[in-house]
Amino acid sequence: MIIQNPILYNIVMQQRAGKRGDFESFKASVLFCPKCRIATPAREKLLLILPDSSLYDYLCTYCGTSTGSRTEKALKDIRIYIP
Ligand SMILES: [Zn+2]
Repeated sequence: MIIQNPILYNIVMQQRAGKRGDFESFKASVLFCPKCRIATPAREKLLLILPDSSLYDYLCTYCGTSTGSRTEKALKDIRIYIP
């Protein structure tokens, strides 16, 4: 299925219920890539950590173009995984 729409697609699949999930927390985002001209799976990259929030950048899995960004408020416990 190919999604073609200039509007940002952001499909977040929350973690699957069932398992207790310390490591089950999984977010997959599909964002529109202007270079590929389709919605592509995005790689989340932590850009900046601020005292009250974190800034994430999303990169196209195929070509590496930045397809979006996200600011996450640090209200709850923060988990940062650096590969
Ligand atoms: Zn791309």
